Amino acid sequence: MSRYIVLPLMIVALVADARPAHAQTAGADGTCPAHDGTVGTPIEIVRYLADDALEGRFSGSPGEACAAEYIARSFAALGLEPAGSDGFFQELELATIAAPHAPAGRGRNVLGLLRGDGGAADEVVIIGAHYDHLGRGEFGSTGEMGEIHNGADDNASGVAAMIDAARRLSEGARPSRSVLFIAFTGEELGLIGSGYYAKNPVIPLERTAAMINLDMVGRLEGGDLIVYGVGTASEWEAILPAANVEPAISMAFEPSGFGPSDHTSFYASDIPVLHLFSNVHGDYHRETDDWEKIDVPGLERVAHLTANIAREVANRPGRLAVISGVGERAQRSGGYGAWLGTVPDFTPVDHGVLLAGVTEGSPASEAGLRKGDILVGIGDADVGTLQAFTDVLRAHRPGDEVLLRFIRDGRALEAPVVLGDRANRPR
Ligand SMILES: [Zn+2]
Repeated sequence: MSRYIVLPLMIVALVADARPAHAQTAGADGTCPAHDGTVGTPIEIVRYLADDALEGRFSGSPGEACAAEYIARSFAALGLEPAGSDGFFQELELATIAAPHAPAGRGRNVLGLLRGDGGAADEVVIIGAHYDHLGRGEFGSTGEMGEIHNGADDNASGVAAMIDAARRLSEGARPSRSVLFIAFTGEELGLIGSGYYAKNPVIPLERTAAMINLDMVGRLEGGDLIVYGVGTASEWEAILPAANVEPAISMAFEPSGFGPSDHTSFYASDIPVLHLFSNVHGDYHRETDDWEKIDVPGLERVAHLTANIAREVANRPGRLAVISGVGERAQRSGGYGAWLGTVPDFTPVDHGVLLAGVTEGSPASEAGLRKGDILVGIGDADVGTLQAFTDVLRAHRPGDEVLLRFIRDGRALEAPVVLGDRANRPR
């Protein structure tokens, strides 16, 4: 999951001058952990990708290259067809004007195709998951800079569920439509890999039936699986329960097709999307997001659910009918303005922003906000949604004194706060 919400069309317009592809030599320095080339179980996949040796899979880094090679070998072992522009890979420029904080360098999406065997095999259902993360926290971390951010939940878990869904779908009867599996680079830097794909699809977007995004699915722990995008096609409300076989997962539906992850790049192109998400936690974007904390049975159930959803969509006689414009689309990138220090909980609430916690020493903690509070206003502005909250905060400057309005235990409360500076927040 990216902290940076960007406009995908802006990004893709700016990566047009891609140089000819050249092979990266992942692990040439001997830093890639050994892999026997077989397909791991979900937790084995998470352990590989979240190994310290991969140094947090920062986009364009040798560790990220190890992860890309590992995913490509897993696709090959499953018999998926290489579907990139260079074998399984689709190479792209990372730094753009829309994502100026990205490192200069190149990243790779990894693409594998399970060819359908029905009359609509030239159409695809995409299952995607980003495989990059924060490296040593140079960028996007709310934790300790310099420490390796392994990103076991964010998003080794999504890649593991994607590969396991590929295994399930490649066993038994082939679905009618094809299924394309894509591991994206550059998500944490602002949806760069998925934005590039949406501009340079290997199968035309007109023949893309749906996109299912897996980003942070490793911490189910008996809670709801949050499913974004349910409003992007009316058929989802029937498909999801049908796909949710025993032992069923408790799901919370959210209509919006826009959010801070790769499905946004596809919904912006009018493709029905889903984003499966097991919610934020205290290790989000911190060096403590490690494999030991993954809920293994929960992750396997998400993989099973994902395969079932994809099969349902792939085998339907007709295509889903997209409903456009559901949710709010971010209008610009960045995020170096005023800082409050709240950690949003993505569980849907009717109105406002539910807090998973506040950062210690932040303006929000100084103001007395805490986990479970629902923020509903900043000054005169209403913050009915997370996007509205982000927009309101961006409209303010560090040092502004404002009144926070929030709900605690059903009571409306207020507290004054002096907004901090995002660039100088404590680490
Ligand atoms: Zn993330």
